[in-house]
Amino acid sequence: MKATAKLDMTQPVFRFAPSPNGELHCGHALSALLNFQAARHTDGRFLLRIEDIDLGRARDAYVDQIFDDLSWLGLIWEEPVRRQSEHMHEYAGAVDKLAAMGLTYPCFCTRQEIAAAASGSDPDGAPSYPGTCRHLGEAARRKATANGTPFALRLDMAAALTRIGRPLSFRKTDLEAGDEKQVQADPARWGDVVIARKDVPTSYHLSVVFDDALQGVTHIVRGMDLFASTDVHRVLQSLLKFPEPVYSHHRLILGEDGRKLAKSRPSQSLRALREGGATPADIIRMVRLEPGT
Ligand code: GLU
Repeated sequence: MKATAKLDMTQPVFRFAPSPNGELHCGHALSALLNFQAARHTDGRFLLRIEDIDLGRARDAYVDQIFDDLSWLGLIWEEPVRRQSEHMHEYAGAVDKLAAMGLTYPCFCTRQEIAAAASGSDPDGAPSYPGTCRHLGEAARRKATANGTPFALRLDMAAALTRIGRPLSFRKTDLEAGDEKQVQADPARWGDVVIARKDVPTSYHLSVVFDDALQGVTHIVRGMDLFASTDVHRVLQSLLKFPEPVYSHHRLILGEDGRKLAKSRPSQSLRALREGGATPADIIRMVRLEPGT
């Protein structure tokens, strides 16, 4: 699908940024449609970005299916579509900047070690990182690296917040209710997040923030499940001197069992609904959106 990019610096820029590691469901449809409609209503731009840094789980077949599902829903996006896996070196450059500020450290811990030592969980429900590798001496780090022990790079959150030196917040709008407020960010609750994974020189947090800045995204509309991540994103934007977008987090769509939809349940996919005879208008009704734009 092709749309001509109008390069007006004051134009709002929206994006839908799915990860091709499963089939899209109605929750994704709501996200994509809200972004697309908001771009239409504001004479803004609508981008599609493929977030495929998880090389073990991303599949080309899912990328093709994303294009098919979104075209079927009637969405039009600008070309070329950015695929994160093609830009790993750019993310590595941003990681290097954080490292040069003295804000990162290598973490050699395994998942099991973290789970065994954690005393709580982060906002995503994962075991909180207990800070094990933060105080490793240079000699221990050199030894582990020389042994070939794989390592991730973590952000020293306390040091990052000290460097920023002021509380962070973000502007949150509710696209459906239409209200707007300033929300305080609470990044400390995330602890020392991973900035570069063991297998790739980036992480979800780093590449999403990098790309939104690079692509001039002004409005981020995504599900409530990513609300808490905004805390980390504000930290990275502040450290890397990226502009601050406006945020909107939409309701999640629940399945008939009352649970959040999951990519792992093919019966809930847009493809299955389409093949079962649903129309785009049915999907719009199912996600309780106003029809038409
Ligand atoms: N790629 C993320 C996902 O599919 C969404 C990223 C975002 O909207 O910030 O969950």
